[in-house]
Order: sequence, then C-alpha cells, then structure tokens
Amino acid sequence: MHPREVWEQVLVKLEPQIQRSHFITWFRNTAILEMDEKRVMIGVPTVYAYDWLANRYRQEIFREIQEFIPQLDEILFEVHSSLDHGIDDRVVDLKKLFRSKHKSVRKLPRQQEVRLAEGISSKLLNPRYTLDNFVVGSSNRLAHAACMAVVGAFGRDNKYNPLFVYGGVGLGKTHLLQATGNEILRRDNNKIVVYVPSERFVNEIVDAIARRSTKQFRDRYRKVDCLIFDDVQFLARKEQTQAEFFNTFNDLHDGNKQIIISSDRPPKELTELHDRLRNRFQMGMMVDVSLPDYETRLAILYTHARELQALIPQEVLEFIALNISDSIRELEGVLLQAVAQQELQHETVTVESVAHLIRKLNRDTDLIGVELPEPSKPRAYTIKDVIQSVADYYQLSSNDIIGDIRRKEIMLPRQISMYLIRKELSQSYERIGAEFGGRNHTTVMHACEKISRELRRDRKLTSDMSVIRKEMGLS
Ligand code: ADP
Ligand code: MG
Repeated sequence: MHPREVWEQVLVKLEPQIQRSHFITWFRNTAILEMDEKRVMIGVPTVYAYDWLANRYRQEIFREIQEFIPQLDEILFEVHSSLDHGIDDRVVDLKKLFRSKHKSVRKLPRQQEVRLAEGISSKLLNPRYTLDNFVVGSSNRLAHAACMAVVGAFGRDNKYNPLFVYGGVGLGKTHLLQATGNEILRRDNNKIVVYVPSERFVNEIVDAIARRSTKQFRDRYRKVDCLIFDDVQFLARKEQTQAEFFNTFNDLHDGNKQIIISSDRPPKELTELHDRLRNRFQMGMMVDVSLPDYETRLAILYTHARELQALIPQEVLEFIALNISDSIRELEGVLLQAVAQQELQHETVTVESVAHLIRKLNRDTDLIGVELPEPSKPRAYTIKDVIQSVADYYQLSSNDIIGDIRRKEIMLPRQISMYLIRKELSQSYERIGAEFGGRNHTTVMHACEKISRELRRDRKLTSDMSVIRKEMGLS
C-alpha cells in the first residue's frame, strides 16, 4: 500500500478517537514521509504539532498504523515546515478526506485540477490563504494594495510587473502571494496561476537537466498567465537555475504575463544572484512587509481565533499580541496552543496560563503585563552542565559523550544527554546536534525519541534517569 493511503486510513480511524478541534489542529498537513515494514516516519508542519503527536497521540497513532504494518517497531516524527505550504502531494488533505462528513468545504476551482494534468506539478494554491483573512495594517498596507492592483488590472495592463514583495520570515509574504493567486482564479478560473516555491523550481530544473528535457520545462512555464515565485533568495549560488529562471522570466514578461516574486530582502541585497536578474526584479514594483504593530497583531489574532471557532478572552489575545512581536507565525503558534489548552482542560485560558505557555516555548522571554514567580532554576542549566552530570554518573568524560565512539556503554549516556538537554533546556535538535560534534538534527531526534520510548519499558533506565536528574537538581 502507498504511504499516503495508509496515512489516510489511519486518520479516518483516529478521527473519532480525538476531539474534533484537536484533530483538525494537530493532524492537518501531516504525512507519512517514509515507511518500511518496521519503521514509519511521520512528517508534521510545526513543532507544536510535533509535541502533540509525538507526546500525546503516539500510542493511538502507533496502534492504528500497526493495523497495516503488523511488524511495526517504531514510529518517528519529523518537523517539515514546507508541509504547511499545501503543495506536498504526500500530505493528506483533511478537508477532502472528511468531505462527506463535514460539508462546508471550499473546493479548488475545477479548472485548476484539470490543468494540473498538463504537467506543472507545483501550481496548487492553498485555499486557506485569502485576501479576506489577510489583515491589513501599516506594516503591509502597500504590499496589499499592490497585490490588489495586480488583481484588478490582471491580464489587461500588468504594470506592476514584476511585483516584488520582500520582508522577514513569518511576516505574511506567502499568505499574501497565495491569496493574490487565489483571487485571480476566483475571478477567472480559466487563468493558469502557478505558485512555485523556489526550492521546488530548483528541483524541477535539476530533474529536467538529468532527463535532458529543459526545453519541455521551458515550454511548460510559458503557458502560464501568472507566475508566483516564492522565496527567490534560495536561488543564491545556483547558477544554472538562475539562468533558467532568467529565461522564463523574460519569456513571461515579454508576453505581458504577470510575475510575482517574494524574497527575504530587497533586490539590491540579493548579492548572490546574478546582476541581470536583480536588475529585472527592479523593473517593476517593489514593496515590503515589515513587523506588524500591536493593533495589527491583535487583529490577526482575532481573525485567526474566529477561524478556529475558539472563544478566547479579549485580555488573553491582548496579552499575546503584546508579548509576541517578532513573527506572525509565532503569534499563531501561541494562539493554537492556547486554544488547545482550553479545549483539553475544559477551562478558559487566562493571562497567567498563556504566560506559562510562552515561557515554556521560550524560556528567556520577559513578559509584559503579568506577574509570575521566577521559574525555579535547575542547578544544571547549561548544555555543558548536563553533559558533565551524565558523564559523572557513568564515569565517563564529557569528551566521550560528545565524541563519536559507537560503543553501547557510551552511546546510551550520549542519548540520555541529548534527551535531557532537549527536555530540560528546550534546545532545538539542530542546536543539540551542533553541540555534539555537528551531528545531524535527525540523529538527535531519534536519540530523544528512543530514550523517551525506553523510559516507558526499561526500569533500570528509569531509575538511572531519576538519579541523574536529582544530581542535577531537577527533581
Ligand atoms: P512568510 O511567507 O513571510 O514567512 P507566511 O505568509 O507564511 O510568512 O505567514 C506566517 C503565518 O502568519 C501564516 O499562517 C499566515 O496566514 C499568517 N499571517 C501573516 N500575515 C498575516 C496577516 N496580515 N493577516 C493574517 N494572517 C497573517
Ligand atoms: Mg513564506
């Protein structure tokens, strides 16, 4: 059976076991990434979903997958934020899957689906992103207006061409671009709108070169009425892709087809792109999105809470808006957690409970608008301290733990250290990997998962762990 089919069936089985709002929140845009007769790797779009699936629903998921893979030994989880873009074919679309049950589903324009067959793989727009649910404030007003102008004049007079939208991570570029594409299609769904994240474009080109089919590749993109090219900065140093993109760009531009591009910085700072490409980008309209102000952040929270059909007290939304200001993605992450907490505990979230939540996600935050007791500081609070404590317990040196000797007596303490650093210091897998001689984050993740699994069945490990934790002043 195909991994996707397995995951669909598993989700169908899980859905009645899990509270609806949780199911929708945590299982959306998930996928089975890899699968064999012993192991299944599940991809999730956010660290929040990771926490929930790997910690709370692990057993349920395991049980259901086991129905299909009787020899199943372990399930692993991995965060891939790209799953959230709605263009990965491995992702199971919950709305589609449960269409018969829950009627109010917005369908993609049919034409889009038909034209998909023509071979442009990446043209799916995510219907979740609309101009209606894009909150306009001073930080994005110009960008929004430019997109509206593009929609309004579409196909007649593409004077903002290309439209170049730039700004930092999590500030709404993808949302705005996709919403623009959706709006163009809503008005005329005979148009071909292609959304392509630049990584995808790179892969397609590499593929086309390998198959000696660059000509077909080029022809395909020429049919497009509107090309939306997301995160162009990733073309840096990819010479051949840049050359190919330059050709596509010129073809479309000469044919008066609309091009919309996003980037994390303005064209003149894209120094690792070819000059001729940068010059092209500056021919049209350049607009930035910046950090939203308090009012905009609050409005985004309102909009999002409404979408989630969650009743969150006004002062809690204000508190979140006040304290999370770096990224809208983070703002939404905290809101999602608050909603989940509320539904799980059947009690209204308060400023205090959300403050704890934010603390948990980011220990060092100074929070405005709430008095909280200082979190009791554990004795071991640096990564080195943890490694040293574990090393002491097992009578090893720190270097043994960090190093790469693959003997069981050393591997286990190494994995325990990774687990403790993850759990107690909330460090990212990447960071932990870096501390352990540049190991890959997946190695760290597997180690943490292994330990948390073993802790459930290995009494010796459990007691070792509790002694180590005591030594470290943790429990
Ligand atoms: P970027 O592409 O700039 O990294 P995204 O478009 O992925 O950012 O935005 C991150 C999240 O924040 C998305 O879930 C998006 O829907 C939301 N978001 C960003 N800006 C707005 C806005 N102005 N109104 C509503 N939601 C927004
Ligand atoms: Mg983006």
